[in-house]
Amino acid sequence: MFGDGSLERFKREGRIVVVGASLAGLRAAETLREKGFTGSLTMIGDEPHEPYDRPPLSKQVLLGRAAADRTALPRRRSVDATWRLGVAATGLDMAARRVRLADGDEVPYDRLLIATGVRARPWPREAEAELDGVFVLRTRDDGAALARRLAEGPERVLVIGAGFTGSEIASACRERGLSVTVAERGSAPLVGALGGVVGSVAAELQREHGVDLRCGVMVTALEGDASGRVRAAQLSDGSTVETDVVIVSLGARRNTDWLAGSGLGAGPRGIACDAGCRAFDFRGIVTDDIYAAGDVARCPHPLFGYQFLSLEHWGNAVSQADIAAHNMLSESTDRLPHMEVPAFWSSQFGVNIKSVGVPSLGTELLVTQGSLEDHRFVAVYGYQGRVIGAVAFDHARWLPFYQELIERTAPFPPQFPTVDRRSDGQRPVAADFPDPSVPTHGPTVTLSGYSPADRRMTFTPAH
Ligand SMILES: Cc1cc2nc3c(=O)[nH]c(=O)nc-3n(C[C@H](O)[C@H](O)[C@H](O)COP(=O)(O)OP(=O)(O)OC[C@H]3O[C@@H](n4cnc5c(N)ncnc54)[C@H](O)[C@@H]3O)c2cc1C
Repeated sequence: MFGDGSLERFKREGRIVVVGASLAGLRAAETLREKGFTGSLTMIGDEPHEPYDRPPLSKQVLLGRAAADRTALPRRRSVDATWRLGVAATGLDMAARRVRLADGDEVPYDRLLIATGVRARPWPREAEAELDGVFVLRTRDDGAALARRLAEGPERVLVIGAGFTGSEIASACRERGLSVTVAERGSAPLVGALGGVVGSVAAELQREHGVDLRCGVMVTALEGDASGRVRAAQLSDGSTVETDVVIVSLGARRNTDWLAGSGLGAGPRGIACDAGCRAFDFRGIVTDDIYAAGDVARCPHPLFGYQFLSLEHWGNAVSQADIAAHNMLSESTDRLPHMEVPAFWSSQFGVNIKSVGVPSLGTELLVTQGSLEDHRFVAVYGYQGRVIGAVAFDHARWLPFYQELIERTAPFPPQFPTVDRRSDGQRPVAADFPDPSVPTHGPTVTLSGYSPADRRMTFTPAH
């Protein structure tokens, strides 16, 4: 089919469409241009804004230190593209290679990158979710609205869910001097991502900073007054929390609904891809021309036994976007697997938390440096006799070292002396993760290899 040089031309020219104009979409577009793609590039995004950064939304924006509309992502280079912002993709015709848009338009492509990310899981009861004073936090508009309400100085804020985002929101509220209650179904904050041992440190941090932390409880109902403003929340232990702001922080849903019936291997757990970000169809056969990157993708990771990982990490969105863009322009022998070690950061209650690897895969944990009591430590996670992850509380400079251990599948417990290990870290202990069949609020890495929902997927061809 391709004569001399024509494959090369096909790769560099033609039409590439990117759906999802945020971190992964923008970085992929930049890499495509960097690597010499000269064809037409179309960026489709349902938000009206140019790509912006989300991490500041739960940090500087809520503290009033940055305006939500000043969070644009810095550009690595100019991207010559047609931007279709404020319009959602509503369907995909794989056979005709076209993306359908909400305004009725159809955009043809030769290669497609899907980077539609996730959205905040809403409060499940619609009427309660619509009460004035009930918020979620995922978008710039969410951040602006919540920051405005916090600046008004509410009497009490209730945060439902103590994953990373919920905990950061609680931290920002305390820093603003607001009274905060946090309700978490699990045994401790961050328990889904870091387990019960480190979760108990996170719980201490919250309480020391004046958070009214309630673990092992669920919010069962939100109540409003006659004017439709939220006033109270009922908890599963029978207690009531009077509050005028509720922030629902119950994790995320993958933005794959628009792909229903397309024949792509997409479902509630994301878009299944090979290790090079190329998407599978619903039969598990890899497509030639469709890629996925960022929070919406779930890919087998070579360093973690090729288990499918769904990651909600900033760094992962950037590195997958680079790999997907490279592979979109490469012949099969030149394609690269996505090998980046997952990494995550968070700042809350004055502590800088950083993790590498996949702590939530770990069964055991050893404090190798510092001490849990001091809230300043490195904890290393072990799985089947090897180092699988590490988390640092205010000890980040050591993480590259632990990343190297993960990359070379070093044995667990780690076999090196450290000078600053304290008494609570002499022996590995159970990392104490909750039963994986009971979802917690917002782990940011999920093993997503098996999904009964995927097995139920049916494909109705468009033609
Ligand atoms: C409040 C907050 C704090 C965070 N803090 C941290 C942190 O401290 N550290 C860290 O590592 N990570 C953090 N993250 C996570 C990080 O921001 C994400 O991993 C990153 O944004 C993922 O980028 P993405 O491009 O894959 O997806 P997203 O940023 O979710 O972008 C997807 C885009 O696609 C759009 N879209 C969806 N469906 C369609 C459609 N059908 N048609 C067109 N467009 C569509 C969406 O509206 C969105 O604009 C945080 C996230 C939030 C919300």
